[in-house]
Amino acid sequence: MMRQYELVERVQKYKPDANEALLNKAYVYAMQKHGKQTRASGDPYISHPLEVAAILTEMRLDESTIAVALLHDTIEDTTATRAEIDELFGEDIGRLVEGLTKLKKLDLVSKKAKQAENLRKLLLAISDDVRVLLVKLADRLHNMRTLEHMRDDKRARISEETMEIYAPLAGRMGMQDMRDELEDLSFRYINPEAYETVTQRLAELSQRNEGLIKKIEDELRELLVANGLLNASVKGRQKQPYSVFRKMQSKSLSFEQLSDVYGFRLIVDDVPACYRALGIVHTRWRVVPGRFKDYISTPKQNDYRSIHTTIVGPSRQRIELQIRTRRMHEIAEYGIAAHALYKDGEGGGDGELLSRESNAYSWLRHTIEALAEGDSPEEFLEHTKLELFQDQVFCFTPKGKLIALPRGATPIDFAYAVHTNIGDTTVGAKINGSIMPLVTRLSNGDEVEIIRSGVQVPPAAWEEIVVTGKARAAIRRATRMAIRKQYAGLGHRILERTFERAGKIFSRDTLRPVLHRLGQRDVEDAIAAVGRGEMSSIDVLRAVYPDYQDERVTVKPSTDEGWFAMNSANGMVFKIPGKPRGKDEGGADAQDRLPIRGLGNNAEVHFSPAGAVPGDRIVGIMEDGKGITIYPIQASTLQKFDDEPERWIDVRWDLDEANKSRFMARILINAINEPGTLATVAQTVARLDINIRTLSMVRVAADFTEMAIDVEVWDLRQLNQLIVEMKELDCISTVKRVYD
Ligand code: MN
Repeated sequence: MMRQYELVERVQKYKPDANEALLNKAYVYAMQKHGKQTRASGDPYISHPLEVAAILTEMRLDESTIAVALLHDTIEDTTATRAEIDELFGEDIGRLVEGLTKLKKLDLVSKKAKQAENLRKLLLAISDDVRVLLVKLADRLHNMRTLEHMRDDKRARISEETMEIYAPLAGRMGMQDMRDELEDLSFRYINPEAYETVTQRLAELSQRNEGLIKKIEDELRELLVANGLLNASVKGRQKQPYSVFRKMQSKSLSFEQLSDVYGFRLIVDDVPACYRALGIVHTRWRVVPGRFKDYISTPKQNDYRSIHTTIVGPSRQRIELQIRTRRMHEIAEYGIAAHALYKDGEGGGDGELLSRESNAYSWLRHTIEALAEGDSPEEFLEHTKLELFQDQVFCFTPKGKLIALPRGATPIDFAYAVHTNIGDTTVGAKINGSIMPLVTRLSNGDEVEIIRSGVQVPPAAWEEIVVTGKARAAIRRATRMAIRKQYAGLGHRILERTFERAGKIFSRDTLRPVLHRLGQRDVEDAIAAVGRGEMSSIDVLRAVYPDYQDERVTVKPSTDEGWFAMNSANGMVFKIPGKPRGKDEGGADAQDRLPIRGLGNNAEVHFSPAGAVPGDRIVGIMEDGKGITIYPIQASTLQKFDDEPERWIDVRWDLDEANKSRFMARILINAINEPGTLATVAQTVARLDINIRTLSMVRVAADFTEMAIDVEVWDLRQLNQLIVEMKELDCISTVKRVYD
């Protein structure tokens, strides 16, 4: 058992100005309070807080933390009180000891949700002061080291808890050695047979390869020194039973198949030396592909930095190498506690207390806050186990609230993570103060400010950009709502017109009593159904006024030149481009069908001036006083309506194969100004069975003529064929289709 003076000496070794009186007082107080208490092993109880303190001295923590370790079980297990500790050691230490007492009281039951809830409380407790968690982890480590004295059932429960919660936490805090030891100790009790087998095999292996580690160490060191890295140190080790077991499990390998059970650390002076060492070993030995990772250029979130690579090394063994500086090594060993030693940045040397400002500290704090905000405890536990944090980015709102997102998340994901309303109204984002595209992938620590607009529907295309389920679901919902609204608007206009023609007035109220007859749930649904063309407005009219007599609507004469208007049997009016076709083209009724689907029955529809042909992707726009205009999606006119999603109508071609018709498209030709050009153009058009509706010379320069031709084609394929053939004509310089 460690003596009082030994403890003080240990602390003074790394912190010469440590408060000796505080350490002495805590030692004596704990000793007196625990008195004759013993542990399950039969040892005096005081040996436990002393060992916990010793573990923390290895991590070179300050004297207050060591004092807290000595006192950590006093309030819970002895007559000591918070008030007494406050009085003797100050409020700071009193608060930490009380924090540990609370953690101990949390009765960890086997129910997962409950366990996770407790862990969450634990994490919240330490977000006040990370030292509480450091003491808690050291406490757990010592309890695990002495677990053999516990009852069987207790062992299993404590081991599982350690494996699921404390080991990953230690890892997350960057304390790799602590994590390894906690895992190995838990492994032993959770899966004794596997532990036995792996341990035995490892022992056999090290016997068979006696001296191999030393041999490889020497060879590596000599090579580095020979290449000028005079201070390089090399340390080899056999891997821990649990990490070997985990690898066997995750890769479904037998022990014999496991090739890299040896790991070597190359520790050098500075970062350039790391890369030099890498070059040296890669030049000398063959590299195993796919195993190289550079955590120096891209450190892990817990500040871990190293270069990892695997080589087929000396003695033809496959060995893993970690290359790092001394400072990186310390962080890898002690993690967050290493920040107690140095100021931020490489090379600092004087003792600096664990600072609330250190990177790792603030990272941990933010992690915890993010965790505490989670919804489902089970999910939270799952995250802890899966170490999901590696795949997350942590960003902040302008007010400093932390938002945790999966890697690859965009400002849109961020906006939806804050609130659905914010996501829905997002139009732009500032990242760290600069306006950035909404497709930008967020990085850790980004401060994101969302720019919003009052009237905005999230574009459906966002669904492809976002990575979070929440954002995707919300965008889908909003898009669905917008489409419904759009159809409802259209349906409403159609109904108004139909009712008006019948001399009636349409209102939502008139619809309500007849909903059941229409088979609709509510008024909005009914109106949208009309908008989508699923229900005819005449049917609605008849449902409201059962004695209404259907009257044929008279032909509405077309006034637009070059456009052909016609009426259908049930009163719809639509126009398609082209000359009126008579019986020579399939009979008078051939055109009764609207060639477009997605519109109400009574919509007035016409094509944009530059036309659209089957095969074009098209969209309908409700235009005031003009009904619906069909545009190819390439039409730049559409930009005018970008801000008015309610005008957009999804439409599709719906051709009547039995009664084909031609459609207009406009092409622009730049032709060489020479005799016969026009004739050649006309011949080409005619040969392809295409009509020319209009042709105009747009501009005539000295040598060139620009012609706009409105052609009438059956479909896009025919139009494209025309363009291809025109391009091949000698007299033509360029041909392109125009959409406006
Ligand atoms: Mn304890």
